[in-house]
Amino acid sequence: MRISYFLGIREPETHFLDVSVTIEGYPEEILQLTMPAWTPGSYTIRDFARNVRNMRARTNGTVLDMSKKDKSTWKVVTGRKSPVTVEYEVYADEAFPQTSHVDASHAFITGTSVFVYLEGYREQTVELTIEKPDGWRISTALDRITDNRYRATNYDILVDSPIEIGTHETLSFRVDGRDHEIALYGDFMGSREKLLQDVSSIVEAAQRIMGQLPYRRYLFIFHAIREFVTPYVGLEHAHSTAINFESGFLEDEKSYKTCLSVISHEFFHLWNVKRIRPTELVEPGFREEVYTHGLWFSEGVTDYYANILILRAGLITTQEFLDKMASEISSYRMTPGRRYYSAEESSFDSWIKYYRSSTGTVNSYVDYYLKGLLLGLMLSTEIINASRGSKSLDDLMRNMMEKYRRDGRGFSEKDLLQALREISGTDMTDWFRMYVKGRDEIPFESMLSSVGLILEKKPLKDGRRSTGLVLRKSGGKFLVSAVHEGTSSYEAGINAGDELVAAGGIRFNEKMTGTPVRERILQDLFQGGGEHVNLHVFRNGRIMEFQVKLPADPFETYALRESEENDERKNSMRAKLLSG
Ligand SMILES: [Zn+2]
Repeated sequence: MRISYFLGIREPETHFLDVSVTIEGYPEEILQLTMPAWTPGSYTIRDFARNVRNMRARTNGTVLDMSKKDKSTWKVVTGRKSPVTVEYEVYADEAFPQTSHVDASHAFITGTSVFVYLEGYREQTVELTIEKPDGWRISTALDRITDNRYRATNYDILVDSPIEIGTHETLSFRVDGRDHEIALYGDFMGSREKLLQDVSSIVEAAQRIMGQLPYRRYLFIFHAIREFVTPYVGLEHAHSTAINFESGFLEDEKSYKTCLSVISHEFFHLWNVKRIRPTELVEPGFREEVYTHGLWFSEGVTDYYANILILRAGLITTQEFLDKMASEISSYRMTPGRRYYSAEESSFDSWIKYYRSSTGTVNSYVDYYLKGLLLGLMLSTEIINASRGSKSLDDLMRNMMEKYRRDGRGFSEKDLLQALREISGTDMTDWFRMYVKGRDEIPFESMLSSVGLILEKKPLKDGRRSTGLVLRKSGGKFLVSAVHEGTSSYEAGINAGDELVAAGGIRFNEKMTGTPVRERILQDLFQGGGEHVNLHVFRNGRIMEFQVKLPADPFETYALRESEENDERKNSMRAKLLSG
């Protein structure tokens, strides 16, 4: 049997793509074709079939009967004829790494949102031919046969290889004999030379940690978009990644470093989640949700490594790394939902919680990126302690890579505990029961001090008081975006969605906030004495007044620094954590 896909970009300005799949030698009477409902790496149902139109099937000029079986599946009566060609159009106007986008300037293709698969034949080798406007080039990690023809060992590899088609710039570099390409689309105003240097030092740092680069070629697709809805969003693949950045975010020095950590995150995924995979994600079904308890490890530990990579690549200082860890601990301890959701539960419910958050989420859920990152940091300190400074989380990652790349198997929680036992020499079942499966408070202070790191509460600036409200600025208005359980605002009855108009009888303004307007989340801080403040809010068009207590410090924020004590053992364990 031979399966050949065709992708035509004939009228890009209409956002429509022409797609077809031709099957030669299909052995059955009925052919079932399915458009995935989600894309791996982004655990939410998108129902890509909703963008399809004009589906039809033919064989040698004869129209074949076809009908829809469910929202994502079509049935074709083949009469065992060959070849069978199924044609359709896809509306592609979502400019995100998890979807597809075509317009007059380019086409970005995420395979799961464009190509249907043959039920029961996902394992078959497939070919893809691309027809593009004159002057456009193609960047993809797919194996190239000729200029515009590509091959993938199976459907899963086809859709795990995003394709950038257009007049984008390409930059390239080599690390350890492997080719790397950067496809740069949009309005990137920064220095290409610096970007190239920084990305290659990330790749080198990862290679030092993991021992080797398990690919021949790797592709970074970067979209720099003006007025993008969020500062950045990325998606990982086995041989590539696609990341959208807000152009302005790349220009600012501090946020550029955040962008580098996003690139590191997506890059490190090529090991953690693409090759070291929870069993459930090995050959996931595309029709519906695939549940796993492992995202705290696959996403959270990857996020920990995002920060480790830029540290070891020399792109941030040790103190910048420690500041980032401290800010994550602050965010975690500011999340009341940590008491009601474990890391495993958080992973399992990503479909209905992380990707479908509401104003109440902060009080009922803990993000698996956040808790997973901190569990990564804690796991590393535990391994370093148990092995008396000879091993760290890096050894665990190498151990798992070695095991799972050999046979393509996924790992279970039992396997993870076994790998931890091999590396650290101790059984971590109880640790898992408390911090991964359980909701026990994580004793960051004592765990970190064991490797010579001091975690301390940051005092609020002089005379400043806080109500514990979280605000967001929208169209010149200050809106309450969430009210954290246990804070005085929560107790006073302020609701998410309320518009804060006055504090202490004075129109609320930016000066009353403690963080710059650039931040999307603001914490209001008030100068001066008094135990209470009167807040006026609009709710459903009515003005309402609340008296809110001003506790000294409802939000605990933390600082992390290296201990100055002259303890050789602790110093060498800290060096193991930070430098590997
Ligand atoms: Zn990720």
